[in-house]
Formats: sequence, C-alpha cells, structure tokens
Amino acid sequence: MSDCIFCKIAEKKMPAKIVYEDGQALAFEDVNPQAPVHILVISKRHIPTILDIGDGDAALMGHLLGVCKKIAMDKGIAESGFRVVSNCNPEGGQVVYHLHLHVLGGRKLHGPLG
Ligand code: 5GP
Ligand code: ZN
Repeated sequence: MSDCIFCKIAEKKMPAKIVYEDGQALAFEDVNPQAPVHILVISKRHIPTILDIGDGDAALMGHLLGVCKKIAMDKGIAESGFRVVSNCNPEGGQVVYHLHLHVLGGRKLHGPLG
C-alpha cells in the first residue's frame, strides 16, 4: 500500500534498522523503544489489522511468531523473558495500520501489558 509506512520500510523506500528479513517477513527496531529490546515483526504483504488475517494466513502467522522467537534468542532475552504484543484498532492502541508484532524485553516488564 503506497501510503503505509511499514510497506515503505518493507520496500526499502524508508529507512529502518532491520534485524531480520526473509521472503515473507521483516523485523526492525521500533523508532520509539519502550524497552531495551523493542523490535517490530511484520508480514511484507500488507495486512491492516488482526481482523484482516484470512483463513489462508495461518502458516504466515505461525512464521511471524517463529521470527519473534528467533529475535528473542538472537537478542539474548529468550531465557530472561520477553513479551509479544499486537494492538488492534483504536482502543487496542493501534497507531500503524499494518499488522505488526512487538517483541519487548531486556527489562522486567510490569503489569499484564508491560
Ligand atoms: P502500534 O501502536 O500501532 O501498535 O505501534 C506502532 C509502533 O510503530 C510504535 O511503537 C511506534 O514507535 C512505531 N513506529 C511508528 N512509526 C515508525 C517508523 O517510521 N519507524 C519505526 N521503526 N517504527 C515506527
Ligand atoms: Zn502496509
């Protein structure tokens, strides 16, 4: 989608600190980190929200979770602990309407949502 910032990052039309990439997925550092490790994992294909995940996207979503696991291991936060969060729609706190998984860790996360 031409006006989507995460599509622009995936297409390398906008800079980001990319930490992982494959044919389907991209992971990059959040520009406003809420923890020492704060990485966003996205599908390269534009999917606006969790509500737009289709029946055919089960493997893709599993793959994105696998990327989260790899990042946690690579960043050294797997054993200490980390959190994967995805916000949906305004009251869920979603600001960027390209589905993304936040991987947060590197400090003690407080409360149920950090
Ligand atoms: P949301 O609130 O939609 O779940 O999270 C959006 C996240 O994207 C926020 O944590 C915000 O800091 C991050 N973000 C917004 N714009 C950019 C950007 O241009 N580059 C990067 N790397 N992160 C961004
Ligand atoms: Zn997009």
